[in-house]
Formats: sequence, structure tokens, C-alpha cells
Amino acid sequence: MPSCLKKHVLSMLSRGDLELAPHSIYGFRVPKLQEAIEAKDFEIRDTVNELINDGQVELVKEYMTPTCPACGSPDPIARLNCPKCGSANLDISNGSFKCKDCGTAGSLNDALMFSCKTCGKQFTLGESHQMALGRIRLKTRAFSLEPIAESLLKAGALYYRCARLTGKSGYTHSFDFYVRGRGGDVYIDIAYEEGGVKLGTLFEFLTKAFDAGISYSLFIAIPGLAIKVDPGVKWASVLEAGSVEEAASVILNEIKATGIITK
Ligand SMILES: [Zn+2]
Ligand SMILES: [Zn+2]
Repeated sequence: MPSCLKKHVLSMLSRGDLELAPHSIYGFRVPKLQEAIEAKDFEIRDTVNELINDGQVELVKEYMTPTCPACGSPDPIARLNCPKCGSANLDISNGSFKCKDCGTAGSLNDALMFSCKTCGKQFTLGESHQMALGRIRLKTRAFSLEPIAESLLKAGALYYRCARLTGKSGYTHSFDFYVRGRGGDVYIDIAYEEGGVKLGTLFEFLTKAFDAGISYSLFIAIPGLAIKVDPGVKWASVLEAGSVEEAASVILNEIKATGIITK
């Protein structure tokens, strides 16, 4: 099973490209992912880099962004100053400038000055280093959790992706979704295995839910379980769904039946 973060990054990419934004310490960040996933900036960057290295995701280079030549920080503050006298009193038109104080004129790029937010270094465009930013795009087909996220959103349920819980063992577990409603909360894992979800995968989940001390969790097997098991485990409900779309409605029915959400 891929890590929870990989699963969600691939899943979100199945709905379209994701934009990268410069990040002063980690090089880049993915704003759309950051909102939805319970993860730190560097974990998302590492996951995206791993997926690029694996060949599952490609970086579509769209523009270069200046980075600090001293520390590599990619989001310096830009301003326009006369390169001769330093004045900010400039006439600007059509990509060129004329200094109102000393009369120097030239291309706007010559007047572009940067200061690094991280280390304070002042530098010109010519002195800056450049980093390629753009969008990331899915290269392969990926299993998508988006129908589930979309149905939870539509039902007005508050949910988080890759929710984490530290268990009694001290180990931190991740669950694909965590849903909180007026009537309680639930941790949900979705397992997808061609030909049916194996018993080992289910046991991994049960062990995790037990260690995390969760009172109510949900395990959805797509397209079903490989063998029949007794789903009568106290701390989990084991449900089967033929497809991810069916899983979305199975989850919704379950959290309505248990009163977690009332709509
Ligand atoms: Zn000047
Ligand atoms: Zn710097």
C-alpha cells in the first residue's frame, strides 16, 4: 500500500494539475494540497519529489522564479530602484524606466532589486539564481479517492485527509479520512486491491485502529474482501463496495445511520 500522502496527492492529481508555489525553506509548496491534507510543508514536498522520481508525476515547467544567490530561498521581496543612484522615484512605461532623480534610463529588469526574506541578502535579477516552478501532472493512472471527498463535501461533513493519531505503542498512524460531525467522529480507511482486499490489509487496519484507541472506525474494501470475514469487531465496521463511487455512498449511509451527520 502506498503511503497515505502519496495516495492523496495522486488522488487529487487525478482531477487535474496542481500548481506549485515558491516556499522560502522547502523550495516549493502545493497550496491546494496544503488546505486539505494534515501534513507539514516538507512532507508534501518530499512526497511530490518521490512521485516525480518514481515517474508517476511530472513537473510541467512553466516559469522560472528568482532565488537568493546566498541561501537559495525562492521568495525574495522585489522592488524597483534606479541601478545608478538607488532612487525609487521612477517613471515606468512599456517595460522600461527613467529615474526622476538622476535621469538614468533602461529596461525594467535593470531596476529590479530583490531582498531575501530569509537571510537579508540584496541582489539584482542578474545576480539571482533561478528555479523552475510550474505545475505537477499525473503521468500514470491513479486510484482516485476524490468521489469520496466530493460526496463528504456535498453532504456538508467536516473532513480531513491523512488524519494522524499516535497510538499506545508510540507509533503515529495515518487514516485516509477523518470525519467529524455533530453526532461524533470516525476514522476511515479505503483499501483498493485488484481481485479483492487481502486479509492482511484488513488486519493491518484493525491493529492500527486498536493501537490508536479509536472507538469507531470504518474500513472500506474495494472491490470487496478477497475472503469472507466476520465483520463483528468492536472498534471497526468493515464494509465492501464495488467501486469508489459506491464507497462514497456506503460511507455517507453509514455516517448518517450512526448519527455523525444528520443531513
Ligand atoms: Zn537614479
Ligand atoms: Zn537568502
